[in-house]
Amino acid sequence: MRTRAEVVIVGAGIVGCSAAYYLTRMGVRNVVVLDQGPLEDTGGSTFHAPGLCFHTNPGRAMEALALASSDMYRELHTPELPTWLELGGIEVATTPERLAECHRRQAYALAVGLETELLSPQQVAERIPLVDPDAILGGLHSARDGLCKAVNVCTVLRAAAGDAGAEFTGLTPVTGFQIAGGRVRGVETPNGSVAASTVLVCGGIWAPELQRMTGVPIPLQPMQNLFAWTAPVPELAGETEEARHPILRHQDRSIYYRQRYDGYGIGVYRHEPLPIDPEQFGSEQDGHRTALGPFTPEHFGDARDATNTLLPSLRDIDLAQPFNGFFSFSPDGYPILGPSAQLEGLWFAEGIWVTHAGGAGRAVAELMTAGRSEIDMRQSNPDRFQRFQTTRAYVRARGAQNYREVYDIIHPLQQMEHPRGLRTLPYGQRMEEAGAVFVESAGWERAQWYESNAGLPEPPGVQHRDEWAARLWSPIIGREHHATRQACGIFDLTPFTKVEIEGPGAVDWLNRVCASEMDRPVGKVIYTTVLDEYGGVFCDLTVTRTGDHRFLVVTGGGSGPRDVAWLRRHLPEGGGVTMTDVTSATSVIGVWGPRARDIITQVSSDDWSFPYLDAREVEIGPVPALALRISYAGELGWELYTAAEHGRWLWDTLFEAGRPLGAAPVGLGAFDSLRVEKGYRFAGQDMHTEYTPAEAGLGFTVNLSKSAFIGREALLREREQGGPRRRLCCMVLDEPDGAPLGYEPILVDGRPVGYVTSANFGYTVGRSLVYGYLPSELAEPGTRVSVRVFDHELGGEVSSEPQYDPSGERVRG
Ligand code: FAD
Repeated sequence: MRTRAEVVIVGAGIVGCSAAYYLTRMGVRNVVVLDQGPLEDTGGSTFHAPGLCFHTNPGRAMEALALASSDMYRELHTPELPTWLELGGIEVATTPERLAECHRRQAYALAVGLETELLSPQQVAERIPLVDPDAILGGLHSARDGLCKAVNVCTVLRAAAGDAGAEFTGLTPVTGFQIAGGRVRGVETPNGSVAASTVLVCGGIWAPELQRMTGVPIPLQPMQNLFAWTAPVPELAGETEEARHPILRHQDRSIYYRQRYDGYGIGVYRHEPLPIDPEQFGSEQDGHRTALGPFTPEHFGDARDATNTLLPSLRDIDLAQPFNGFFSFSPDGYPILGPSAQLEGLWFAEGIWVTHAGGAGRAVAELMTAGRSEIDMRQSNPDRFQRFQTTRAYVRARGAQNYREVYDIIHPLQQMEHPRGLRTLPYGQRMEEAGAVFVESAGWERAQWYESNAGLPEPPGVQHRDEWAARLWSPIIGREHHATRQACGIFDLTPFTKVEIEGPGAVDWLNRVCASEMDRPVGKVIYTTVLDEYGGVFCDLTVTRTGDHRFLVVTGGGSGPRDVAWLRRHLPEGGGVTMTDVTSATSVIGVWGPRARDIITQVSSDDWSFPYLDAREVEIGPVPALALRISYAGELGWELYTAAEHGRWLWDTLFEAGRPLGAAPVGLGAFDSLRVEKGYRFAGQDMHTEYTPAEAGLGFTVNLSKSAFIGREALLREREQGGPRRRLCCMVLDEPDGAPLGYEPILVDGRPVGYVTSANFGYTVGRSLVYGYLPSELAEPGTRVSVRVFDHELGGEVSSEPQYDPSGERVRG
């Protein structure tokens, strides 16, 4: 075994093998892969997974990873060592809701360029003769789906990576990490240590053990999944091919199926979730540990009934090889892929299915070698979790719930039921009294709207939504929107992530990480973008200079941990700048609307005439606050920052003064419609690293003439090459009642050209608005577009933006 490596990979399952393969192809030769089990069958999940790969997945990145993976498995395929059987796949519907969901999934797939087909029951039975057509309403067919022969994939990848310089060693458990000076230095094994400045953890279900070795959270919950190979099926007698039938999902009953010669494999999610901890992984196979446990037939009953109905040929068939296999679920269902901000040199590629393993291996290798992956992996960033989201109880509860919901129809706004109420707003009780309909965000309980606003006047524009689009929506949202435009809305903004930056090097450092000029006078508020080396928008920030060497930096609540980790990672070596997260210590309330100044001057004797994008230390009654003249609603007003313990007092005081002038509490539903109407971008949706500021319509946040900053060279190149290739556009739908919810495909002449990044109804302008990126040549007002929602298309047109107050008079008012 080598004693020194450029990269050590822990785990030789399909993810570790794939990462090793791509790393060597990208020029990292000295890769050492260690596994606790024998390489030919390590005992990990890969070695007993049946290998079904469906491409229709929740989320664009997951669909892109699935496509990249099947491309890889197809490329590796040889008749001697098959790695990929492109059989197609069918998701059957047995309820009208599921049939509608098939249409929705078909639309989402189209947005990533994946063609699928809706089949009649008879057409499904023609492709899978075991299916009873009378038991179903139809099915969604994807020709690209298939079976991955994961064990063979590992064999081929080990050989190819080995030829390129990698070394694979089995029966060598990693028992510890060498850590010094805040970074990884290598790993320890019973056979000696391997020095390496980079270690990639691909340990599958053993992640919690590896977490204990480094102290860095890997929030994953191993779960048991029931699987059984059946006895021979008489209808398949004599079958010589491994599989001819497309792979099959019966999501209404949470079951998946595949053929294996004259038998079938049946996998089941429809049972009480069975979380399992590493201490319980007791089972040993030939002296090493495996991701397998004893079969629990009591959890198979429903699958039996459902199979009898859907596939009568399998009626009460014997289960020849049943077992419970283990694999992991993260709190939000996405993988954990990328570098850890907590320990330099530590990387993760965890929580990944066979379906995504090839693409995930490539993505992590790209991140390690080039600092960016072709597929935007922001949703898988290991730093995305709040601290409480990595506690054992939380990870367990969320892992179990994600397992339960794996085949459910999930509405884009669907709320988790448990755990809730983990972070309490200072004025949470007041929100409850006002009839808040609560939604969870980063652990906070936030209002989507307030029932007490039901009697507010109707807005000029009214939208009628169908049942799907009306979930977690209410016409009250329009009334709150209107109250903000007419009088004043009072908004809970406490969940913003807030950090104080301090030190003699603060200005220079901010100028290096932000695209705008940050050396502005004390009291200025700067809205800026932060870019990656490729000029992509990593995040946007509101930065307020609160002293010569002091700044308040504000970013989103959900993206906060990731953004803060990124900023920390870029802090200058040798000190000079400190960062303090003050999120939990600070309460923030937004007061926005034409009457905002009339309200605030009743409770504060300070001068509130200071201009837009300025900040002032103020006193509101006895409470000190920092007021930022900025508004995400596009109206006159302020964000008021005060100590957390003053939050409730401030809330009460603002309402007492504001109510007679028409002020209302306003929830997130209206918050979003206000900002869409005003054309304000939402980080993570309307912009992320796939897009440059110019493409996102945020060119105004970039100052190319200032000193060097991250991403500048890439933006100069973009300019030299003729400017952006795509642009974020506002599109107005013909039908005001059309209500896309995000990620639907945008078509021009029937061809997919983009997808919906944001959509909402503009209650003031009375139009249904959609944002999405279009190729520059189409990004002109007047271009006809359509948005596919379920099985119908909504016509619309590219328009100028913003739709509301394009001159910005209101916000400066
Ligand atoms: P693994 O294959 O488990 O590899 C991790 C490796 O790390 C193991 O070899 C382990 O020995 C090694 N390791 C751990 N700790 C150490 C240590 N300290 N030192 C050295 N080595 C260590 N996915 C699909 O896409 N389609 C399916 O149809 C499908 N069906 C499934 C059915 C079942 C019953 C199960 C259990 C899983 C299924 N999956 C499926 C999920 C899929 O199998 C896994 O998500 C995937 O194989 C994980 O790959 P991996 O490389 O991350 O993990």
